[in-house]
Amino acid sequence: MHLFDTHAHIGLITEDPIEQLIVVQEARKEHVDHILSICNNLRDFFQVYDNLKTAAHVYHSVGVSPSEVANLPRDWTSRIEEAIGLPRVVSIGEIGLDYYRKFGNRDSQIELFIRQLEIAERHDLPVIIHNRDAGRDILEILKEKLPSRGGILHCYSEDWPYAQEALKLDLYLSFAGNVTYRNARNLHETAKNMPLERMMIETESPFMVPSTHRGKRNKPAYLKDTAEFIAELRGEDLEEFSETVFRNSLQFFNIKP
Ligand SMILES: [Zn+2]
Repeated sequence: MHLFDTHAHIGLITEDPIEQLIVVQEARKEHVDHILSICNNLRDFFQVYDNLKTAAHVYHSVGVSPSEVANLPRDWTSRIEEAIGLPRVVSIGEIGLDYYRKFGNRDSQIELFIRQLEIAERHDLPVIIHNRDAGRDILEILKEKLPSRGGILHCYSEDWPYAQEALKLDLYLSFAGNVTYRNARNLHETAKNMPLERMMIETESPFMVPSTHRGKRNKPAYLKDTAEFIAELRGEDLEEFSETVFRNSLQFFNIKP
């Protein structure tokens, strides 16, 4: 079985460089062949990138998340461009809108989001999108500004009608451990009905731990539990399900198998 964890905050699981390497190596024993490392800001990006330089199965996404909108370093665009030149940097993200915790204001979040969508387009990279209580604005902006390499709605959190709109824009939906929660009916409906060719899976570790590990901190090694849950929900063979979702991820990030 092959799995690709398309969203893991390795730097939030642990700050210790050695522990970070252990986390990503341990995941390989649980069939997680590839991991996309995500950071919310550029300081963390360069730190984690450096720590994981020797881990060839770990890819990296660079971007500034909406939580950082009030703390942007003056040179943030040039630092993103610097990161884009590094090996195994394959996407821009996570970027998006978060109206739940009221970071900055709506206009400043939207401006930061759009400017990074433009950077992605300029560098021919796909985007990882964060959405919290901002589903309408996200779709409206993506209708105009989605980069040609496409995007993932990560840690999918909306309902099935919303998913159908997103799929019309050729977006991918990525499910995290919260899909395994018993009361997540909107997520179950979406994961069951959507075309498998548009699906990816992730841990969003250290958050969103699958219900099978309730009470623990999430980590990439737990990704299989989410795969098992969705395959069963869809009535599909776990191996076949995983292969398709794995292939989706490789294609999306333009990674040779
Ligand atoms: Zn995240």
